[in-house]
Amino acid sequence: MDLDTVISRARQVAVEVLRPEARSVDEEREWPESGIRALQDTRLTALTIAKSQGGLGYGLLGLARVCEELGRECASTSICFGMHSVGAAVIAAKATSTQREEFLRSIAEGKHITSLALSEPGTGTHFYYPQTKLSVENGGLRLSGTKCFVTNGGHASSYVVSTVSADPDAPPGHFSCVVLPAGTEGMQWGSQWLGMGMRGNSSRSLELNDVRIPAESLLGQEGDQIWYVFNVITPYFLVAMAGTYLGVAGAALDEARKNVKQRRHDHSGALLADNQIIQHRMGTLWANVARTRALLYRAASRGDSGNSDALLGLFSAKAEVAECAVDVVGQAMALSGGRGYRGGSGLHRMLRDVQASHIMAPSTDTLRSWTGRALLGLPILSD
Ligand SMILES: Cc1cc2nc3c(=O)[nH]c(=O)nc-3n(C[C@H](O)[C@H](O)[C@H](O)COP(=O)(O)OP(=O)(O)OC[C@H]3O[C@@H](n4cnc5c(N)ncnc54)[C@H](O)[C@@H]3O)c2cc1C
Repeated sequence: MDLDTVISRARQVAVEVLRPEARSVDEEREWPESGIRALQDTRLTALTIAKSQGGLGYGLLGLARVCEELGRECASTSICFGMHSVGAAVIAAKATSTQREEFLRSIAEGKHITSLALSEPGTGTHFYYPQTKLSVENGGLRLSGTKCFVTNGGHASSYVVSTVSADPDAPPGHFSCVVLPAGTEGMQWGSQWLGMGMRGNSSRSLELNDVRIPAESLLGQEGDQIWYVFNVITPYFLVAMAGTYLGVAGAALDEARKNVKQRRHDHSGALLADNQIIQHRMGTLWANVARTRALLYRAASRGDSGNSDALLGLFSAKAEVAECAVDVVGQAMALSGGRGYRGGSGLHRMLRDVQASHIMAPSTDTLRSWTGRALLGLPILSD
C-alpha cells in the first residue's frame, strides 16, 4: 500500500468513525473500540511491521502522518493507535521466530492490539529507568513491580513491559523488555486514571505480582535494551505523540478559520474575518503549524533513512509540536469566543487533550535538555 493510500485510509477512518464518536469517547471516558476496530479492518494497525513480516512496512514518517490524520478528529484514539504502533515496532525490532508467530502475525492480520507499559510511579518521566524486578528462575522469568499510565490498559492483547536488567551488576539503563500476553497470571489492573483530557485512552496502572513467564518472552538480549531507547522506543514514541498533537493543532486552526468566517457583528455588519488584526493572527497561526509540520516530517524522514543527526530533529519536533499545539488551540479558543469556550465544543476537548503533549514522556523540558546535550557532544542521559 503506497503512502497516499495509507493516508487516505486513515483520513477516511478519522472522518467516518472517529469524528462522530470523539465527543462520547471524551465525555464517557470510553476506550475507542469502534475506531480501533476500523483501524484494524483497514490494516493500519500493521503500519510499523515490516512487509517481510506481513505488515505495511512504514517507519517514522508513516506513523507521524497517520497519527496526524487521527489526531485531527480524536486525540485519544490516535494515542491508543500510536502506543500500539510503538509497541509493535519494539516487538518487531528483534523478534524471534516464536514471537513473530505469536504476536506479529496476528498484529499484521488486524487481530491483535499491543501497548507499552514503561512508566513507573517511582521514576516518572524517566521511563528508561524502570524499577520492575526481573529474575531468571528455573529457565523462566519472574517479574514484580508497578507500572502506571498504561494506554490501552485492559483492552490490548499484549503489553511490552520494561524491567531492570536481571544482571545485578548491569549499569543503570541496561534494562530489559518482555512481552506479556493479556491475562497472564499475576497481572492486576488498577482503576482508570482520570485525566483532565485524553479521557478515552484507558490509561491504567498495572501491578505485576510475581508474574512468571517463559524465557521466550524476552525481547532482544537480556540487559541490552538501552539500545531500544534511542533506536526504537523514543523515535517511535516521539513521532506518534508529535503527529497526534500536530493533528489537534491543525484541527484547532480550522475551527478558528470557520468561526471568524461565520461570525458577524450586528453593529458593524462586519465579519471577524474582515478585521486586520484577526487576519494577521490567522496568518501567524498558519505559519506556526506549517513550520512545525515541516520540522516533524523532515526529522521523521531523516530517522527513517538512518541519518546520524536524526535524533536531534526528533527531540525538537515533539517539543515544538507541544508548544505549537498548546498555543494554537489556546488562540483558536480566543478567536472562537463563547462558542469555543462552551462545554461540549470541539475546542473544549482539544484544550484539555493538548496539555498532555508537554507531559507525556519524554517531556518538553527533557527533550530541550537532550537536544542541547547532543548538540554539545555530551551523553544524552545525564541522570
Ligand atoms: C495521556 C497519557 C498517556 C500515557 N501513556 C503511556 C503509555 O502508554 N505507556 C507508558 O509507559 N507511559 C505512558 N504515559 C506516561 C508518560 O509518558 C509519563 O511518563 C508520565 O506522565 C510522567 O509522569 P510523572 O507525573 O511521574 O512525571 P514526573 O517524573 O513527576 O515529571 C514532572 C515534570 O518534571 C519535569 N522533569 C522531571 N525530571 C526532569 C529532568 N531531569 N529534567 C528536566 N525536567 C524534568 C518534566 O517537565 C516533567 O513533565 C502516559 C501519560 C499520559 C498523560
